[in-house]
Order: sequence, then C-alpha cells, then structure tokens
Amino acid sequence: MSNGTRIDPEEREPRAIKIRQPKHTGRKIVFSVLAVLSAVLVIGAGVFAYINFGGYFEFDKFGKTAEESSSSESEPEIPEENEPEPVISEESEPEPVIPEEPAEPEVPEEPVEPEKPEIPKDEWFMLLVNKENPLSEDFSIEAVTIDAKGHTVDARIAEDLSAMISAGEAEGLDFVIQTAFRTYAKQKEFFEAGTTDAAPGTSEHNSGLAIDIGCATGNFVGSPEEAWLLEHAHEYGFILRYPAEKTDVTGFSHEPWHFRYVGKEQAALIKESGLCLEEYLAQE
Ligand SMILES: [Zn+2]
Repeated sequence: MSNGTRIDPEEREPRAIKIRQPKHTGRKIVFSVLAVLSAVLVIGAGVFAYINFGGYFEFDKFGKTAEESSSSESEPEIPEENEPEPVISEESEPEPVIPEEPAEPEVPEEPVEPEKPEIPKDEWFMLLVNKENPLSEDFSIEAVTIDAKGHTVDARIAEDLSAMISAGEAEGLDFVIQTAFRTYAKQKEFFEAGTTDAAPGTSEHNSGLAIDIGCATGNFVGSPEEAWLLEHAHEYGFILRYPAEKTDVTGFSHEPWHFRYVGKEQAALIKESGLCLEEYLAQE
C-alpha cells in the first residue's frame, strides 16, 4: 500500500502538470502564431500602402494629397517647377532634329561633289595642248580627210564635225575649213619659217582635235556662220577654244574661228561654266 500511496500522488501530480502544460503551451503557441500573423499583416499592409501611396506624400511638400494640391492655390507654383522640365525636353528634342536636317542636305551635296571628279581629264578628247603642255614629236593620230582640199582631223571627231557642218548648211550657212590637223613636222617647218609663233607640239592643230573654220562669203567675224557656231557648236562637241576674255590663261589671242572638240557632254559643261579649257581642267 505504501507503494500505492507514494505512487498515486507522484503519478497524479505529474499527470496533472503534464496535461496542463501541453494545453497552456499549445494555447501560447496559437496566440503567438496569431500575433505574428497579425503583425505580418499589419506590416504588410503598411508596406503595401507605402509602396502604392507613399510617393504622393513624398512629393507633397504641403502635407496635402495630390488631388487637394492640384486643385488648391499651389497650382501656379507647380507649373513653375515644371517649366525647367519642358526646357530640358526642348533642348533634347532639337538634338535629334539637328542631325536629321544636315542629313537631308548631305544627299544633294553628294551628287554635286562627284560631278567635279567626273571630269574625264585622262580621256583623249580632253587632251590639253598649249605652250606649257606641248605634244611630243612622236605624237600621232589616225587622221581622216574631211574635205576636197585634203584637210584631215582625228578620225574620232569626224562624224560630229560632219554633222555640225551639215546642220549649218541645212540652215543656209556655208562653212569653209581653213586649217585642221597639222603634223608636228609641218608645225616645225612653219615655226622655223616664221609663219606661226606656236612652236612644234604647242599648237592644238597638232592634236587633230581642232579646226579653224570660216565662211565662203567673206569675213567670218560677225557672220551668220560665227553666230550659229557660238550657239550650236557645243551640241556637236566643239567649244570656242580661245575666248577674248581668256587670253591671259590660254596664252593665245582671241581666235573666233578656232574650235576644239571635247565631246558633246563636256562641251556643254564647259560652255555653261564660262571657263576656258585650262580653267576647266584645273578644277578638282
Ligand atoms: Zn586654229
């Protein structure tokens, strides 16, 4: 029995304690969890409210809501603060506009620049012959006869020359070839005889690309033939080679009868430019 009395209180008390303790501990855990969840909800709500609405309160210096400040007396002050912003945007907008405007002019500029390099300076029809650029003694051409007097020119210009003369004759004009191709040897003979001041190789007639043209009726200067050539020669590839206002550049006096072949395209460009051949070829 003694064992039973000893055992009972010891066993009952621990049982009561053991039973109560889990109950109290479980309630505390439940309350603690609820408290933690509540705190999390409150904090989460606060963070949510701050993230979504905190911005309005930060920029509102007067402690008013965005709606109140937008409709209150602070309206003139807000535009003042916003004024610098449009200024910045205006400065940034012209920047993309500026590169766009120069980009458009560059398009027309590019085709203009290539026109200068397009001068075919190395082509046979652009050959420059003058006192500073004489032809060599062994210069030769394929010459063809162009009239009954036996005048010859470079075969490559014969067709255009014939077309020019025919066109003038169709309008009642009467051209006469005075001088055409002259060989280096013939030029040397004339130069040594004092017939010409142009040394061998320095006369454009030595190239076979030039002609002295006159009219059958008399003086060429002031004639209808001269007037017609001044207006139409470039259409057939010829230019007036020694204009009166270019004697200092060409080194030759004014020769109204001397026409030089440079091709139709270049003849039109040279005539339009108002430059003599030396000036035209000197362009970059
Ligand atoms: Zn001549």
